[in-house]
Amino acid sequence: MNFENNLAFAQALDQADPIRDLRQDFLFPQQNGKPFIYLCGNSLGLQPKAAREVLDEQLNNWQNFAVEGWFEGETPWMFYHKELKKLMAPIVGASAAEVCPMNTLTVNLHLLMVSFYRPTASRFKIIMEAGAFPSDQYAIESQVRFHGFDPATAIIEVAPREGEYTLRIEDITAAITESGDEIALVLFGGVNYFTGQWFDMEAITKAGHAAGAVVGFDLAHAAGNVPLQLHDWGIDFACWCSYKYQNSGPGGISGIFVHEKHFSDTTLNRFAGWWGYQEQQRFKMEKGFVPEAGADGWQVSCTQVMPMALYYASLQSFKKAGFIAPLRNKSKTLTSYLFIIINEVNKALGEEQYKIITPLTQADRGAQVSIIAKQKGNEVFEQLIVNNVLGDWREPNVIRLSPVPLYNSYEDVFTTGTLLLDISKKLLK
Ligand SMILES: *Cc1c(COP(=O)(O)O)cnc(C)c1O
Repeated sequence: MNFENNLAFAQALDQADPIRDLRQDFLFPQQNGKPFIYLCGNSLGLQPKAAREVLDEQLNNWQNFAVEGWFEGETPWMFYHKELKKLMAPIVGASAAEVCPMNTLTVNLHLLMVSFYRPTASRFKIIMEAGAFPSDQYAIESQVRFHGFDPATAIIEVAPREGEYTLRIEDITAAITESGDEIALVLFGGVNYFTGQWFDMEAITKAGHAAGAVVGFDLAHAAGNVPLQLHDWGIDFACWCSYKYQNSGPGGISGIFVHEKHFSDTTLNRFAGWWGYQEQQRFKMEKGFVPEAGADGWQVSCTQVMPMALYYASLQSFKKAGFIAPLRNKSKTLTSYLFIIINEVNKALGEEQYKIITPLTQADRGAQVSIIAKQKGNEVFEQLIVNNVLGDWREPNVIRLSPVPLYNSYEDVFTTGTLLLDISKKLLK
């Protein structure tokens, strides 16, 4: 497509956008009586209007049924997670049995590593991306220590080459192959939170399996953002939070994926709890843990109805959109437009003031564009906020902008470019 840097062109794209109306399902924060252009859905997605209604419904169930709510009402709590499983499955490319909503992300990362990081004296290493989200670094370090190994020798980090910002797939697979028989676990992000790079998850999985390792992914920035085929790619396990691209609210419930090939493996360790016990027998309260089949068997505590209700509300917009494919189509164009717009700003300023570090290739990124501001980045970012554009700031000089296909428009992207240019002219003159 030949993009044009003008309002009429942006508005024409919005007119032709088959899912433009989904924007109306969300509540935008306001400043001085005007809604923000919200480009921060990679950090916390917007509130769906349906959230309050769904939450209210569950508060009513609690009020009207109290403890009987577990088995009564339109959505008995005992089985409520099954409604979510059906909606989560198409988002990550899995069967409903392979996914389950539970806990929060880092907690699930730990629980899944208990099952899938099973180091031996000779095969004990974990391979991961350098500069992974800190929670993942801490979780992995502490798991390694828990098993009596030293993170300095047990963790292999794959870093970008000198002068580059993103990872090359051949470097990732080479690192896996090189330490092949020492690697117990390959644990990568799906989309890197800082650069927005989407890794070739299928290639990583193949390389990991060829080396004899287990392969897992943290999909915090990938789930609800890019099309995933966790089952077909043969990934062993994954987890994600639902409050970023999936709009389930601050601290929203996490989702896990366990590949069906592991369902009958009785040797897997688990940190078990009563809610992972076989559903039909759970209330017999018997001694000796017997897991429910599938991802449900990793549940620990009783189901979190309120956070699940919020996730349910937001999953309804994905359903309305037709799940990931239509969203991804729009996302690719939106993000490409943002690339063009930022380049236009640089051109108008006569220098590369904003260096894009997100991969240019659509297949290597999701709905995020990260830019390094060469000068006064913090002030530029603050001025964007003053002018009703809410992106997100990462020290020391990175601005992340995420046009989210569910609720952002081409006009949002165009206007952001115009403001960025005006602000830069004022601050940098
Ligand atoms: C956002 C994010 C987290 C946050 O974890 P919580 O347990 O939900 O606080 C963890 N890992 C990655 C990669 C993230 O992007």
